[in-house]
Amino acid sequence: MNMITNHMPTAELQAIDAAHHMHPFTDGAELAAKGARIITRAKGVMLTDSEGEEILDGMAGLWCVNIGYGREEMAEVAARQMRELPFYNTFFQTSHVPAIALAQRIAELAPGDLNHVFFASGGSDANDTNLRLVRHYWAAKGKPSKTVVISRKNAYHGSTMAGASLGGMGGMHAQGGLPIPGIVHINQPHWYAEGGEMSPEEFGLARARELEAKIAELGEDNVAAFIAEPIQGAGGVIIPPETYWPEIQRICDAHEILLIADEVICGFGRTGNWFGSQTLGIRPHIMTVAKGLSSGYVPIGASIVWDEVADTVARAGDFNHGYTYSGHPVSCAVALENLRIIEEEQLIENVATGTGPYLKEKWEQLADHPLVGEAHTRGFMGTLALTPDKARRAPFEAAEGTVGLICRGHCFKGNLVMRHVGDRMIIAPPLIFQKSDVDLLIERAVKALDLTLAEIK
Ligand code: PLP
Repeated sequence: MNMITNHMPTAELQAIDAAHHMHPFTDGAELAAKGARIITRAKGVMLTDSEGEEILDGMAGLWCVNIGYGREEMAEVAARQMRELPFYNTFFQTSHVPAIALAQRIAELAPGDLNHVFFASGGSDANDTNLRLVRHYWAAKGKPSKTVVISRKNAYHGSTMAGASLGGMGGMHAQGGLPIPGIVHINQPHWYAEGGEMSPEEFGLARARELEAKIAELGEDNVAAFIAEPIQGAGGVIIPPETYWPEIQRICDAHEILLIADEVICGFGRTGNWFGSQTLGIRPHIMTVAKGLSSGYVPIGASIVWDEVADTVARAGDFNHGYTYSGHPVSCAVALENLRIIEEEQLIENVATGTGPYLKEKWEQLADHPLVGEAHTRGFMGTLALTPDKARRAPFEAAEGTVGLICRGHCFKGNLVMRHVGDRMIIAPPLIFQKSDVDLLIERAVKALDLTLAEIK
């Protein structure tokens, strides 16, 4: 077998990749025809590819590299932990220091009575845990009929059977017989695309009240929980109207429904607070976290659980659930170091009051571009709607996503990672972004928008 290295010609790497590597969310035939862009190194907010091109990462990897790339401290902590205790499990009455320390730190950071942590390997399996946990909780409370979880169309909660079912992505449900039973979806608070003539405030209330209607339809005694991202990420950075979350909170409180905030993207600083729930005024019973917990340096996720739920489950005996890597010592040690860096380097302050307001000002000016119908940010999440007709918020005649894909292609060719969701362009940069990084991002984004406009005219 030949040795694969960074120094091999790109075409050779691409051919081996296409021959043997099945990629997530990728068209295999297209991959074989064009070849993947191969990333070889990264430092700070910049990626380097196998051709030596430097690419500005406007997506923090997959919304996760909050502290930026190439932090030596993280590598040192990982190496130290691997030497001391590379693995031990947390099953059957055993524990270890990294898991204990990280659970305590997360409990300190999490708001309210969210003081218990169940570890997973990522966000999808943490949401699987949540589904089992809420059903087990209600059964332990003597209400075993409370099993249905209500979610939203166009939500993203992961790729496992439960994660993808909780999510509301039509393209995912179309493959593999999803959603699994016991999960239902209401409409999303996406005013720009679906608000019609309503004001955002009216629309936010109307969409929240769909939850109350769905609970009434199913019967309160059959509903376990409602799950939602504070701000939908993979759905296109959908920032809900101000009226939405207070009404959702009222409904969950009034009907004895557990509220699960999926903080996999919003958590650990991205919205300008430790958690998106704090930014949007949500009081969840469970928060799902992953990504920014370790800044993507190692795989880890968790469910952060309200005292009453955790105590009820603890009193009910064994919770017959767990992953080999629940509380993996290396992941926990690295995540702790990541949280230290976020705090000591005041990265959340950078989002809230440092670079964040500058990003907002510059990004929202993109709404003046002829191709852009709206441009918004919340913290370090940004969204642009592309449209042929600003006044009507109209979609393009071409199939949805055609223009977004063209724009994404121009971004990538111009060495900017900006993702498209349909005909929306989105960003979620590392939390270390400085004003000069914003300037570069805007310069490259405008160039890509201009080229897109020229191409579709
Ligand atoms: N939940 C949300 C809100 C996400 O954005 C994601 C991933 O993008 C997940 C869950 C799934 O996390 P993972 O890919 O770590 O399984």
